Amino acid sequence: MKEYKTREQKKKFYRSKEWVDLRLLALKRDNYECQHCKREGGVTIDSIKTPGHRKEVVLNVDHKYPIEFYPELALEMDNLETLCVKHHNIKEGRTFDKIRPSKKKKWDDERW
Ligand SMILES: [Zn+2]
Repeated sequence: MKEYKTREQKKKFYRSKEWVDLRLLALKRDNYECQHCKREGGVTIDSIKTPGHRKEVVLNVDHKYPIEFYPELALEMDNLETLCVKHHNIKEGRTFDKIRPSKKKKWDDERW
């Protein structure tokens, strides 16, 4: 059984062809919409990148059951869900994306 406990193991997984392919299928299945936003009655789709501007919305494909604890579900379509960055971070308990620290914080929900 494969393990995805360390950063390296996870990094390797997220770079694998199996994941990259499956991720695209999951996005397609979810209509390129954040499934959380959808449940709340909103629509958050991946925005088109315009030259000179950062992408506004980036969708993530999330593992409902984290691969760290459920490695056998890493490539299960039923375990995948498309989430916008905001919802993905909330789920992961992050307030900003540590992988890309240079990225500007897009959501400032605390301000009000
Ligand atoms: Zn969302």
